[in-house]
Amino acid sequence: LTLAERASLVGPLDYKILKTIYSLHRNHEWIMTSELVEETGLRLNELQPVLLRLYNLRLLSKQIISGEYSYRITFTALDILAIKKLYVEKVLKNLGIVIGVGKESEVYVGYNFNDEPLIVKFHRVGKRSYKNIRKIRNIQKDKDWTVISVENAEREYQALDCVKKNYGYVPQPYGKAYNAVAMELVEGRELYKSELTNPEEILDQILSTIRIAYNECKMIHGDLSEYNVLVKDGTAYVIDWPQWSSPENEDLLIRDIDHILAYFYKKYEIDKDVDAVIDYIKGK
Ligand code: ATP
Ligand code: MN
Ligand code: MN
Ligand code: MN
Repeated sequence: LTLAERASLVGPLDYKILKTIYSLHRNHEWIMTSELVEETGLRLNELQPVLLRLYNLRLLSKQIISGEYSYRITFTALDILAIKKLYVEKVLKNLGIVIGVGKESEVYVGYNFNDEPLIVKFHRVGKRSYKNIRKIRNIQKDKDWTVISVENAEREYQALDCVKKNYGYVPQPYGKAYNAVAMELVEGRELYKSELTNPEEILDQILSTIRIAYNECKMIHGDLSEYNVLVKDGTAYVIDWPQWSSPENEDLLIRDIDHILAYFYKKYEIDKDVDAVIDYIKGK
C-alpha cells in the first residue's frame, strides 16, 4: 500500500488513538494498553480491535512489558498523522508520488485544495544518520527518532519561513505538521544537473540568500552545495534547511561558501574572492 492509500484507511477513531500514543510517547517510549484505556476513556474491548488493526497496518509496533501489550507508533504512522493534520488545515488535499528520497527524508508531490501541485517533505531521521546528528547537535540521549524528525520539520519550516519573508531565494513554505513540511514545488532541476545561461546571476541569488539567512534569520545553512540548490527558469531556490545552525558556527559558514564558490569556479570559471564574499555575507 502507498502512503496515501494507508492514510485513507485511517478513520477518526484510529486517528485519535495514534495521536494519543504519539503524545504519551513524549514521556516514555512504550505506551501500555492500560494507559490508553485511561487516556482515551474507551473500554478495553473497544480499544483492542483498533490496536490490532493499526498493528496489522504497520502503524504500531508492540511489545510485552510487565505482562501487558505496549505500543509505539511507526514512521508511517507519523507520516499519516502529518497528512491528516495538513488536510484539516486545508494545506494538502491529496498526496501523490515520491519524487525524492534523501538520507533523512522522503519527498512527495501532493495537491492543494485548488488541485495545484506542491511538495510534502517527510522528515525521517533513521537509525543510521541518527547517531551523527546526535553527535553534531549534542542532542539529549533520550530523544528518539520521532522527536528528532518532528524537530527537523519545525526547524526547516522556520528557516524557509524567515528566509522567504526576507526575500531570499527559497521555496515558499505552506505549512508544517508533525514530521512534514509542505512547500512550493520547484519544477526545475538541481544546480549540479543544470546548464546555466546566467551563472553569475544564479550565484548572486544564492549568496544573497545566505546573507539574508545570516543577518535577518541568524542562520547558517550548513549543508550548502550544488545538490541543495534547485534552478527553475533562471532562478535559484536553496533547499534542505533542517540542519541550520546559529551564526557562531563560522566554520560552517565558510564551508558553505567554499562549496558554492568551488562549484561555480570549476563549472563556469567564475572567480570570486572568498574573503570579499564573507564580508558581503556578514553585511560589511
Ligand atoms: P539529503 O539526503 O541531501 O540531506 P534530504 O533528505 O535532506 O536530502 P532534500 O535535499 O530537501 O532532502 O530533498 C531531496 C530531493 O527532493 C531534492 O534533491 C529535490 O530533488 C527534491 N525536492 C526537495 N524539495 C523540493 C521542492 N521544493 N521542489 C522540487 N523538488 C524538491
Ligand atoms: Mn545532505
Ligand atoms: Mn539534500
Ligand atoms: Mn538534508
